[in-house]
Amino acid sequence: MKRSKFYQLKLREAAFIARGLASQKHPVLAHVIPMRRCNLACTYCNEYDNFSEPVPFEEMRQRLDKLADLGTEIITLSGGEPMMHPQIFEIIAHIRERGMIAGLITNGFYLTPEKIKKFNNARLDYLQISIDNVEPDEVSKKSLKLLDKRLCWLAEHANFHVNINSVIGGGIKQPEDALVVGRRAVELGFSTTMGVIHDGAGTLKPLAERERRVYEEAKVLAKKEYARLGWFQDNLVAGQPNDWKCRSGARYLYICEDGLVHYCSQQRGTPGTPLADYTQADIDREYHTEKYCAPLCTVACSHKTALLDDWRNLIRLYLDFIPRPGQRRVAPLPPSLPPAAEARLEHPASKPPKAETVRQILRAE
Ligand code: SF4
Ligand code: SF4
Repeated sequence: MKRSKFYQLKLREAAFIARGLASQKHPVLAHVIPMRRCNLACTYCNEYDNFSEPVPFEEMRQRLDKLADLGTEIITLSGGEPMMHPQIFEIIAHIRERGMIAGLITNGFYLTPEKIKKFNNARLDYLQISIDNVEPDEVSKKSLKLLDKRLCWLAEHANFHVNINSVIGGGIKQPEDALVVGRRAVELGFSTTMGVIHDGAGTLKPLAERERRVYEEAKVLAKKEYARLGWFQDNLVAGQPNDWKCRSGARYLYICEDGLVHYCSQQRGTPGTPLADYTQADIDREYHTEKYCAPLCTVACSHKTALLDDWRNLIRLYLDFIPRPGQRRVAPLPPSLPPAAEARLEHPASKPPKAETVRQILRAE
């Protein structure tokens, strides 16, 4: 990715973070499915079929317009395999025309130098490929062996951010392959992340000891992303629940191929409202709705968006404690931070700029 494009993307990300911190009234991220069909059949996956048709472009355009009107900041296209959609480049161009950040999650098998250049022209912002193993096997064909050539094309031609994600769990035979994949990603100049496999309800499958060791080593490769999300994945890998508030249905939306809004890929059917009928009242309600599956949830996108609201609440708390000029304290002090915020502050990977200040203010009282 060219340096100028990188800084442009960072500026746009900073703008969406600022808007997300300023208001809780709009979705931060929507996951949109243009094509449920996939060319692969990974055994751990429950998000694909082998027969469905692409969503017609006009319907996709209407859905994206509705999401833009709701104030959505980021659209991530996934599937199935979104590159099987014949108008994927037009869809990405439309996301950018509506002022939103455009991302794509693909298995990478359809990438060619020409298609990467078309993504450049459509102004794609970021692309993620999941690679599960070094050699393809009966669990997953998403292997470094089959994809390395495409990674080289991306390194040569892509003018967008590329992230390589590896999955731990899910019956992958050699969990250590995730480290080989991560090192290759870093060598090619990409970022790398580690996903923890979930079950059909989006919650944790216990990891074996060997997988946990790989996770610990992979943290070093994915250090930037780990600093942001380590607190939630560390707990899951240790088999511990997280104390957090899922904001799906409000800050994070999952739009299926039928145009219905769901909490996430693993909780399809709830709320199940057509996107065309989704309103501010739905967003406000779902922001506060408790999700039973939250403690062991592995859906990283939902955790990321919820983090923004954790910070928003912390900043508001902090600001409320600062006396205005000529005033004594303007807000009554709570006895302590909420448990989720305190857990974040205590986590060794947490580097919030104001965290210590917030804590000192609370303890000084
Ligand atoms: S490539 Fe992705 S969508 Fe397709 S079967 Fe594998 S995990 Fe599922
Ligand atoms: S906690 Fe939220 S994101 Fe996680 S599985 Fe439940 S509804 Fe989905």
